[in-house]
Amino acid sequence: MQSENLLLNQLNASTYSKIAPALIAVNLERGHELARPRERVHRAYFPYGGAISCVVKLPGGDAIETAMIGKDGEWGAAQALDDKVSLNGVMVQIAGKGSAIEADRLRRLADELPDLRALLMRYEHFFSAQVQQTAACNAVHQVEPRLCRWLLRLYDLVGPDYMITQEFMAEMMGVRRTSVTTIASNLQKAGAISYSRGQVHIHDVSILEARSCECRAEIRLHYEELFHPQELNRID
Ligand SMILES: [Zn+2]
Repeated sequence: MQSENLLLNQLNASTYSKIAPALIAVNLERGHELARPRERVHRAYFPYGGAISCVVKLPGGDAIETAMIGKDGEWGAAQALDDKVSLNGVMVQIAGKGSAIEADRLRRLADELPDLRALLMRYEHFFSAQVQQTAACNAVHQVEPRLCRWLLRLYDLVGPDYMITQEFMAEMMGVRRTSVTTIASNLQKAGAISYSRGQVHIHDVSILEARSCECRAEIRLHYEELFHPQELNRID
């Protein structure tokens, strides 16, 4: 495996060897803001672990997550290639390591390496599909299936144990904290998760899957179609 980032790992060895000197090792610390709304993007990030949230904040103080990025993706490349600003806030919710590339350098590399540009565009296509599915989910689905989808997405990215407060979960869902408390308690009683002082442990993925809306499977299918067409049936 040439990179712990699954996207960089898709590049052929020759292309990867040309971008490797541009990769900067970064620690993505919890709470770190990779971008603020309407700020220019200076770096693209390719996480090896952890989770990054794209969050829309509304003037009244409400916020909602529109996408989650981890080792299967990147953030900032599309903005870097077009020298654009970030439309929304982007924040590390679970710490992890990763690589970053300066925006100017990434732009030059993408001009020289058509397969790098194609990969980044393909990911942008997936990212946009994820945002659209999340928008539909937030508008139509009930809080419990949405919360299960969200917990499963974190499970896919970081495994069964992570630190997350109920306040943060409520903020990402755009719902009241009391709703999250009730649902987390129900999931705990059902044996799906345990939750204590912000420490989540997922005991039984199948219970979360049964209670999640279809959006998780839809988003995973988009990803498989774009990046692993030969493994379409392997959505496990
Ligand atoms: Zn949904």
